Amino acid sequence: MSSGGKIEAKINITGRVQGVGFRPFIYRMAARNGLRGYVINLGDAGVEVVVEGTESRVDKFLVDVRENSPEVSEIEDISCELKPYRGRFRDFRIDKSQNRGKVASGIFPPDIGICPQCLADMATPGGRWYEYPFTACAWCGPRFTGVNSLPYDRERTHMHRFPMCSDCHREYYDPMDRRFDAQGMTCSRCGPTMSLHDSEGKLLEAKDVFAETARLLLEGSIVAVKGIGGVHLASLATRDDIIEEFRRRKRRPYQPFALMSPSLDDVETYAEYTPDERRFLVSWRKPIVLLRKRFKVISELVAPGLDRVGVMLPYTGIQTMLFRRLSEPALIMTSGNRPGLPMAMTNEAAFKELGGLADYFLLHNRDIINRSDDSVIRVIRGRSSFTRRSRGYVPDPIDIPFKKGTCIALGAELRNAAAVATNGKAFMTQYLGDIVNLEGLEFEKQALYIMRDLLNITRNPDVIGCDLHPEYMTSQYAQVISQEAGVEAVKSQHHHAHVVSVMAENMVSAEEEVLGVALDGAGYGSDMQIWGGEILKSTYLGFERLGHLESLPMPGGDQCAYYPFRMLAAGLSNSITDDIIRDITENHVENALPHGKKELELILRQSRRSDVVKTSGAGRFLDAVASLLDLTYYRTYEGEPAMRLEALISGNASDTLHLEPEICVMGGKYVLKTSNILYNYMINKNRHKYSDIAYSAHKYLAEGVSNMVISASEDTGIKRVAVSGGVLVNEFIAETIHRILSTEGLEVMFNHKVPPGDGGTALGQCCVALSSVI
Ligand SMILES: [Zn+2]
Ligand SMILES: [Zn+2]
Repeated sequence: MSSGGKIEAKINITGRVQGVGFRPFIYRMAARNGLRGYVINLGDAGVEVVVEGTESRVDKFLVDVRENSPEVSEIEDISCELKPYRGRFRDFRIDKSQNRGKVASGIFPPDIGICPQCLADMATPGGRWYEYPFTACAWCGPRFTGVNSLPYDRERTHMHRFPMCSDCHREYYDPMDRRFDAQGMTCSRCGPTMSLHDSEGKLLEAKDVFAETARLLLEGSIVAVKGIGGVHLASLATRDDIIEEFRRRKRRPYQPFALMSPSLDDVETYAEYTPDERRFLVSWRKPIVLLRKRFKVISELVAPGLDRVGVMLPYTGIQTMLFRRLSEPALIMTSGNRPGLPMAMTNEAAFKELGGLADYFLLHNRDIINRSDDSVIRVIRGRSSFTRRSRGYVPDPIDIPFKKGTCIALGAELRNAAAVATNGKAFMTQYLGDIVNLEGLEFEKQALYIMRDLLNITRNPDVIGCDLHPEYMTSQYAQVISQEAGVEAVKSQHHHAHVVSVMAENMVSAEEEVLGVALDGAGYGSDMQIWGGEILKSTYLGFERLGHLESLPMPGGDQCAYYPFRMLAAGLSNSITDDIIRDITENHVENALPHGKKELELILRQSRRSDVVKTSGAGRFLDAVASLLDLTYYRTYEGEPAMRLEALISGNASDTLHLEPEICVMGGKYVLKTSNILYNYMINKNRHKYSDIAYSAHKYLAEGVSNMVISASEDTGIKRVAVSGGVLVNEFIAETIHRILSTEGLEVMFNHKVPPGDGGTALGQCCVALSSVI
């Protein structure tokens, strides 16, 4: 060939290839292989690379691109078109982005934990980044929390107020530099700075704010520490007296606090982790991972009554510096918010909202644009099960099988997240907390506004998704925006939305029917009762209720969730007489109910009324067992009784009770009886270890639900099962259901991309709504 074996190759690369230092990486790989040409951002369509050179070097270049790409990038697809050599290029260039106004869908990265190279810079004396807490590069640092709108240029980020010094400027424009085109580019000469304040907000003079903060923490102070997605409250994790005071101020008597440890070695001093858990701990997303407690290095008051503790590793230079001045195995690092309010984001809000909670404030002068709490995961069968999906994961898209239409979904009520779906992808907002007041709803509105902006969605959505519950603030707000936009608001039954979230994650086709299992605390049922232990034959469009847990009276409604003993007494009333209930609860009733025997009488009377609200909630069944075993009489945080019950079986509990699930058919539906088993546990309470009773209750629930699914599968011929709901963060229940159903030859699907709890329902609502309009 006259070209001397040379060719031209046009390569298209899609996936997470923008905002992660991908183009300079391509530049370096082209230089390494002596190729000429260019690389350019195509917005939605990824990046385009054109190279010319010998065929063998182009091949080697493609191998390099696949094998050496930046850790945070994710190549979905590489396509390569070969053309004859034309000798068009004299060098390799990074071209200015095209279609910048159109940069959209699925390209913007989540926040990235500080990278090893930046940590090395922070440890190099004499350098511009030595001990500089805002050190970042094209591969790491804030992204989602620091961006206002796209295109991703410095003036639209939280760095806009910090002009670069001449050295930063030079490196920013040098394609061979790790900080080329890094919007977070900054150094100790030109970047943001830290400041330390007392509880009144007064600036404290300190030569080294980190050393001073470390000293204050060691003295027993609680310090508010501003990070990248919000403000944390930090304290020592080793001293009971400090944590007691912390809990008193935060009015949070038992809810577990998350820990941050400087290294895996430090984590090992108090917790154990599997290889899979380790993988999540050290990943660039840096979530909180729920690990099994081991040694008593950490105060028991960090996670009272639980067998697990949430742990994360430092992900910012600020946290790195703090631990460099402090030799502690861990610090408590919990979201800095007033009860019921979102986490503080600005310095002013920190002083206003956290005054009285924090003794000191370690702050900085860089804005947080999008609030984002730490993500929390449990690793089950090697994969993530979210209890909170936020920093490090948002705004990563989730592929859904609906390619057409745009939908906004508002989610449920507690531990909420909203979602925007467009072009076959769903984008969950960051964790929004409980939407039970105007502050919460305002946060949800802002989060949706930013998400639409990042996705460049300017027109009205085609449809709105929300929960069927008429009293959720999110359902009511859905009506408002549906009227404003003149589009339909599609209400999803809560548990159907849970099941659909699993179907969507697993790309179940629009025509397919699956068996759905939804196990959670409470959701509004189609019959206006409270559901929560459901077997649903489901498509995206609709469902049929094939089975459920026994419907137990719920006298006083939500009061039963706060006082689990109420649930126990009401549940027992389904299987035994009031006299027997009085008799067997005689010894507990005064402790377990605020108004003792008088209250019990009221509960029993209400339970017998024909108009009492009923619940089939799996969470309520576990609550009742927890109060039966005296684990908790008053719930101080959502899920507390069930979590304490789960902690009880982590030791050497076993099935000494041998109770088989009791399933009957009522009104054409399978019903797993739960009231008889409560009675059984009650009378066996003194003959078996509490841990064995807890074990039996878990096994009963998991086996009972599995058996109903197996019968439903035989009836319908359906072999795929979508399992969801907040109870599925319980490892024992998830694993048992998986084991039994897969042994029967059924395919079992769980949530791994969104929480199985209510933080994932917006994904389901999007797909229910989209399926109904297209
Ligand atoms: Zn870096
Ligand atoms: Zn600089």
